[in-house]
Amino acid sequence: MRRYSAFAIAREGVRYHQGWERAWKSPTPKKKYDVVIVGAGGHGLATAFYLGKNFGITNVAIIEKGWLGGGNTGRNTTIIRSNYLQDPSAAIYEKARSLYETMSQDLNYNVMFSPRGVMMLAQTHHEVRGYQRTAHANALQGVKTEFISPQKVKELVPIMNINGPRYPVLGALWQERAGTARHDAVAWGYARACSDMGMDIIQKCEVTGVDQADGKVTGVQTTLGDIACDKMAIVVAGNSGHLAEMSGFRLPMESVALQALVSEPIKPCMDVVVMANTVHGYMSQSDKGEMVIGGGTDAFNNYTQRGSFHHIEETVRALVETFPMVSRLKMLRQWGGIVDVTGDRSPIISKTPLGNTFINAGWGTGGFKSIPGSGWAMAELVAKGEPGPLAAEFGMNRFTEGRFIDESVAAGVAH
Ligand SMILES: Cc1cc2nc3c(=O)[nH]c(=O)nc-3n(C[C@H](O)[C@H](O)[C@H](O)COP(=O)(O)OP(=O)(O)OC[C@H]3O[C@@H](n4cnc5c(N)ncnc54)[C@H](O)[C@@H]3O)c2cc1C
Repeated sequence: MRRYSAFAIAREGVRYHQGWERAWKSPTPKKKYDVVIVGAGGHGLATAFYLGKNFGITNVAIIEKGWLGGGNTGRNTTIIRSNYLQDPSAAIYEKARSLYETMSQDLNYNVMFSPRGVMMLAQTHHEVRGYQRTAHANALQGVKTEFISPQKVKELVPIMNINGPRYPVLGALWQERAGTARHDAVAWGYARACSDMGMDIIQKCEVTGVDQADGKVTGVQTTLGDIACDKMAIVVAGNSGHLAEMSGFRLPMESVALQALVSEPIKPCMDVVVMANTVHGYMSQSDKGEMVIGGGTDAFNNYTQRGSFHHIEETVRALVETFPMVSRLKMLRQWGGIVDVTGDRSPIISKTPLGNTFINAGWGTGGFKSIPGSGWAMAELVAKGEPGPLAAEFGMNRFTEGRFIDESVAAGVAH
């Protein structure tokens, strides 16, 4: 595949953009693959990419029932950070964050990684203690964060009201090299690189059943026919329960809708990401000028990939004390995605009771940031059949053995 470059843009500019190749092929499925990955979201595509890049496994199909990146990967608010409390979480999220730093170069695709800084506001004394503890934990884990004063918060975000009557800002956990990236571009960049390695991305093809013999997977039934495989990776986020059922096991996981909304575009007014977990809202400004706003999950399990009015009201009400300007913004659109939430709010990267079948799920409300690290760890698991150091603690047996990785504060609400 031809490389994207400034020279290529100039060349195509003078020949009416007739020479661009398709970014990825749309092949008909082969009869058999070494590995079938179900789900062409960021995690499925990153798994495929690192299977090829790190292990030379390229006879891979990535099967997607809709369009690639059309699930949560294309619906999130793009926050990238690694300031988690527990060691296994900090390790995988920091690996991911560091891979984001060079992703555009590695994929030859501009993912618009913007390490503009993420702050998590402390608006109660309990949060002050919690975030100071996280800053200390991060120092030991080699993750660069600091607890900053209200004055520093105001300096970084002048539009913020730090003296609110109910929830004054008492400080913040600040990660300077955290930020955002263009979510679609992450999926498209991985897809292009996978296709270039000879992998097949098969869109509009739903997996409807799993073929098994002697306790092992032998293939998948799809809406485009049966496809045999030696190994299967299930990477379908909110649909994980369905794929697990087809494979004959159950998951300790719930599927709920998480919603977000964006305002009309306005002039640049905030160049960091702010999360306010006590009041339950977070906000950043997109390159187009829209304020990107998110809140919490629906309080009941559901599969509705759409927004609802009460969430706009709840989220805006939560933010308006700290950001008075929000009350004067017109909201443009809202949407929802189905997130897969585990009891300890940590992901599952694991072998399963079905032989040669592996699962990557449970990223819940915060799995965009982890895409490259998760793909890296999942590829190692699929290639070797055993988890490497990044995935070792995230096996699904932790729920029966009581080895929880409790990130309910860091991951359960915000992103
Ligand atoms: C509103 C919202 C805001 C968010 N904000 C953030 C944020 O700021 N930062 C952050 O880090 N994370 C955030 N997240 C979470 C993040 O988006 C997800 O954790 C992440 O995108 C999950 O990626 P994935 O590849 O696992 O899943 P997905 O992108 O959902 O991909 C799974 C794919 O599997 C496909 N599939 C399902 N069933 C089948 C089947 N039977 N056959 C074939 N294909 C199938 C689906 O169509 C889908 O494309 C947010 C999520 C939402 C909804």
